[in-house]
Amino acid sequence: MRTLPGYTEPPTAEGAEKVSERDAITSDLRRWVKQQRADGMEELLLPDSEVQVSAATATADRGPAPQPDAALRATLLERHPAWAESPLLPLAVAIEACRRCNLGAQRGCSVPGTGHPKAKLVFVGEAPGAEEDRLGIPFVGRAGQLLDKILAAIDLKREDVHILNILKCRPPENRNPAPLEIEACRPFLEQQLDELAPGILVALGLFAGQWLTGKKLSLTKLRETGPFAYRGIPVYATYHPAALLRNPNWKRPAWEDFKIIREEYSKL
Ligand code: URA
Repeated sequence: MRTLPGYTEPPTAEGAEKVSERDAITSDLRRWVKQQRADGMEELLLPDSEVQVSAATATADRGPAPQPDAALRATLLERHPAWAESPLLPLAVAIEACRRCNLGAQRGCSVPGTGHPKAKLVFVGEAPGAEEDRLGIPFVGRAGQLLDKILAAIDLKREDVHILNILKCRPPENRNPAPLEIEACRPFLEQQLDELAPGILVALGLFAGQWLTGKKLSLTKLRETGPFAYRGIPVYATYHPAALLRNPNWKRPAWEDFKIIREEYSKL
């Protein structure tokens, strides 16, 4: 087993577990730094987990200057008229100003989420893609169109539900979210979910499944052994619509998942 420089391996089993946990974190960090360099970054901005999410604390010292709050509020209200009286709106302002990781300086629009401010059913995806980055609204590309069709098939519209992502900014080339980007964005998703307090959560794909359940399981395990819970809310994991576009064989099991989700939703 590799050890960290300057770290003496403790003799106990518990100590050995700590070492391997540190090893895993170190290797996550190395991978992330490499990815940031590949994305062209010369300086690394690390998230401050102690920082409370607010427009005032988000430091906008990189990239294009964010719009003034009033103009930004107006833009966001145009996109999300239902949020006029909701704390989701100031949260979206804070998301736009966020520069906790490097993605904020590289993206077009931030993509806070969309949907009913009191939705009982909330979907969580991975991260915005190119179309979402252009429009500031989640799931509007091909995967989003498929999600709309699935919703229609269970007699729902996107206005009835809420749709969020783990990351609010598009990763370059639609690469996977990096662990530190997920951590930098975590307080936003936590606050959105606290505000929405839905009756059911649906994780679209592995990243959302692991985020919401806190379990490092495969998507198959998450689907087959769930539902799990996020702060007491049942979490149903299913295939990400983009995965269904890539592999139509998954459409049938996904449809079985959505029938269960619809049934549980009808009971709320
Ligand atoms: N994929 C996601 O996970 N989220 C989006 O918003 C679009 C595609």
